[in-house]
Amino acid sequence: MKPVIALVGRPNVGKSTLFNRLTSSRDAIVADFAGLTRDRHYGNGRLGSREYIVIDTGGFEPDASEGIYKEMAKQTRQAVAESDVVIFVVDARAGISAQDHEIAQYLRKLGKPSVLVANKAEGMTQGLQLVEFFELGLGEVLPVSGAHGQGVRSMLETALERI
Ligand code: GDP
Ligand code: MG
Repeated sequence: MKPVIALVGRPNVGKSTLFNRLTSSRDAIVADFAGLTRDRHYGNGRLGSREYIVIDTGGFEPDASEGIYKEMAKQTRQAVAESDVVIFVVDARAGISAQDHEIAQYLRKLGKPSVLVANKAEGMTQGLQLVEFFELGLGEVLPVSGAHGQGVRSMLETALERI
């Protein structure tokens, strides 16, 4: 079985941008994996000879009665459950939010292997700005830039090593 990597994080942190970096083909694989549901995006990728599946979350249409946060939480839980390792994306420029704390708490409770990455970190030469993310209790934070591709390969290697 190919390892499954879930990208989770609050809206607008850059999950889909990272998803596009990590995948070469999308969605066609859904049919091959009966256990995977259809309301999230799946993609195939490979690192050398190692193939993996990536799940993007957040491309949802929240139902008005449930609201965006409840739907986000549901998608996050489902994607995490389906995955072998989680890439938890935060926004290096915006800093920590209440939703980041909620997701971190959930991941810690579950004890799921995870990698904390601070996206939009291009041009941040010092790690100083990222120190605040240690507060999330998930260990070191990897700076990445989905838009520019920086740190993406080492993020992926780290995720695959944690499985
Ligand atoms: P998602 O809601 O988490 O899937 O986030 P998106 O991938 O849709 O990105 C949200 C916004 O952040 C878009 O305007 C992206 O262009 C921008 N963005 C994504 N990655 C980066 C990055 O590495 N650097 C910067 N500066 N902006 C980014
Ligand atoms: Mg998205």
